Amino acid sequence: MRKEGISGLLVGVAALVMSVMWGCSGKYEVERESRLALGTIVEITVAAGGGEQVRQAVEKAFAEFERIDGMLSTYREQSEISRLNRTGELAMGAEAFDLVRQALQISALSGGAFDITVGPLVDLWGFDEGGAVPREQDLGNALRLVGYEKVTLDPVSRTVRLALPGMKIDLGAIGKGHAVDRAAEILKEAGIENAIIDAGGDIRLLGHRPGKDFWRIGIRHPRDPGRLLVSLDLADRAVVTSGDYERFFIEGNTRYHHLLDPATGLPAGGCQSVTVIADGTTEADAYATAAFVMGAEAGIDFLRSLPGVEGIIVDGGGRTWWTDEERLRR
Ligand code: AMP
Ligand code: MG
Repeated sequence: MRKEGISGLLVGVAALVMSVMWGCSGKYEVERESRLALGTIVEITVAAGGGEQVRQAVEKAFAEFERIDGMLSTYREQSEISRLNRTGELAMGAEAFDLVRQALQISALSGGAFDITVGPLVDLWGFDEGGAVPREQDLGNALRLVGYEKVTLDPVSRTVRLALPGMKIDLGAIGKGHAVDRAAEILKEAGIENAIIDAGGDIRLLGHRPGKDFWRIGIRHPRDPGRLLVSLDLADRAVVTSGDYERFFIEGNTRYHHLLDPATGLPAGGCQSVTVIADGTTEADAYATAAFVMGAEAGIDFLRSLPGVEGIIVDGGGRTWWTDEERLRR
């Protein structure tokens, strides 16, 4: 959903096929391929018998990222979201409409911490172009255009309406998760049972590593990219991390990053990173952004309140908070 044109190029960054021995479980073929899509590196790992059918499924899964970028990206003039943002009202396809509806539900659930109407704030901060601290007056003007309750839905005609001219929806905090879930469905439909889809920190696990009953996933430390915060053994789950190290600039001694508090228009202060584990990547993506904006204490309570959801938060001071440490470290 991010850099203009990048997904259009859909460059094959690295493609390799390898065979590995996993423990004493026997030999499995693992196919791993990375490409640029949605402004990030998407990596698909498939543990299967290999062959043409698997290749085609992986190809289709990558094409799905491209399709969803074309539907949702604010960098694509013809995307449904861009058209809505230009006109203030649009009858949408079922997929985009349902995603907007789900996003608005999560806004309400998170007390507005997660809010897809942050578009004018995202433009103002301009993190994609390096970023700059906005003038107070500009911040005030943008803030008047923010508020999920100013979006109305007509489910019959699937029309989304924005109450004020200049309002802009940005699905950057949920769209990647949706794309990962869709790509996972494509692999599943092709009969692939064991796979990992990783779109720059939005991870969906299908099944487990052959010979084991889990995939081992490393979560990076928010202040030391060379170190792992923790590694998690999980099967059939989604793992999504939002961090203040993803897009930021430093001015004075302050780190200004892309996770904005819709109440103030400023980067949210209370966390360095939030990792959410859930069944689906779409909701994990939105919950991670929401918990980040809430701050560690309210954020961990929020995650604990959601059935089937777990999480790890590193707060502003570097302390780690867990929904249930023993369970996650199992
Ligand atoms: P993520 O990396 O999933 O946490 O999403 C971050 C992106 O979501 C940002 O680059 C913005 O485009 C957008 N965003 C920033 N703050 C919020 C927020 N409070 N609610 C929803 N989306 C946001
Ligand atoms: Mg998110």
